[in-house]
Amino acid sequence: MTNKVERSLFDDVMVPCYNPMSVIPVEGKGSRVWDQEGKEYVDFAGGIAVSCLGHCHEDLVNAVTTQANKLWHLSNVMTNEPALRLAKKLTDISFADKVFFANSGAEANEAALKLARRVAVDKFGADKSEIIAFKKGFHGRTFFTVTVGGQEAYSDGFGPKPGQVTHLEYNDVDALKAHFSDKTCAVMMEPLQGEGGIISSSPEFIKAVRELCDEHNALLIFDEVQTGNGRTGTFYAYEGLGITPDILTTAKSLGGGFPIGAMLTTDEFAPHMKVGTHGSTYGGNPLACAVAEAVVDVVAQPETLKGVKEREALIREGLQQIDEKYDVFSELRGQGLLLGAVLNDQWKDRARDILVAAGQHGLMVLVAGTNVVRFTPSLIIPIEDIKEGLARLDKAIASLR
Ligand SMILES: *Cc1c(COP(=O)(O)O)cnc(C)c1O
Repeated sequence: MTNKVERSLFDDVMVPCYNPMSVIPVEGKGSRVWDQEGKEYVDFAGGIAVSCLGHCHEDLVNAVTTQANKLWHLSNVMTNEPALRLAKKLTDISFADKVFFANSGAEANEAALKLARRVAVDKFGADKSEIIAFKKGFHGRTFFTVTVGGQEAYSDGFGPKPGQVTHLEYNDVDALKAHFSDKTCAVMMEPLQGEGGIISSSPEFIKAVRELCDEHNALLIFDEVQTGNGRTGTFYAYEGLGITPDILTTAKSLGGGFPIGAMLTTDEFAPHMKVGTHGSTYGGNPLACAVAEAVVDVVAQPETLKGVKEREALIREGLQQIDEKYDVFSELRGQGLLLGAVLNDQWKDRARDILVAAGQHGLMVLVAGTNVVRFTPSLIIPIEDIKEGLARLDKAIASLR
């Protein structure tokens, strides 16, 4: 074996649940990334809506190196300063009073579902166990969260699933009203479906969900793993929707590229997770929390959030111009820097082709399903990088015609 690490090694040594592209990026700065060959990319993906401050942001590099020279890990037998400071920041900035730290979105959601079930059992008994969730929803890959997610392709084939999970049509107020009962323990939803195709919730639907939860003593869990931390232009997306959830989960952008997740809830529900009911070895890790603190400090600044909307406008405008030239999109969806360009009939299901061609032209984009090209760049992507990225997308699409 030579010293050079190549894509072919993946097939030799990795479990084949992914099929990564042939290039291997080795370095990033801001919204530019370089691969092993020195080829440069503009990053409109940010991982998958993770690198919210781009690559190697100075404040995050400082936070991780400062903490790395102090203390890496303790366990939850003791608490630590970064975890407490981060929890204080998250509760100050949101509806929540209490935080549970995990290491990923799925784990934050697992905690949320377990809390909701525990609250129902404590207050109303074991019969109140139904989780209502929505088709095309995505909540992670643990067995409970993938079962609550609305894509059977992801949850089938692993034997018996956790029970009492119902999937309804997203944005269907009548179906929700017809189905809700006192047996409903919680509703879990994304305020804007990400993986499912960048689908916004309607105001009537959001209002109905909140009202029905209140009427039936069910908890409303907002999965803001993808929408959170400034992505839609407010710190959390619920702020723009006029309602407040009982539990909110956050991960992805929270760590800006360092693994962390969190479940946020209120003083009313948190006490049900008393000592011993739940836990995580790495949850609240000082390194992760130190980085996330730095992320929150930058993202929560009004200029950052205002910048998200300005960048959204620029990207939408650029995509419209591309569409005028090549007639490729039927619709632009999403909010802030969580945007989806839906392909029209002529281009149907060619999202992956566009992703590959974009890569060849030095641009990283994402897909959401087979028919939507997804854009989730850094919240502070420089304006010239937006222009350059759109120019590369233009060339990539031209090359496919
Ligand atoms: C990515 C995602 C998850 C899963 O997060 P992981 O960190 O991969 O476990 C859960 N919910 C939503 C809405 C997501 O976008």
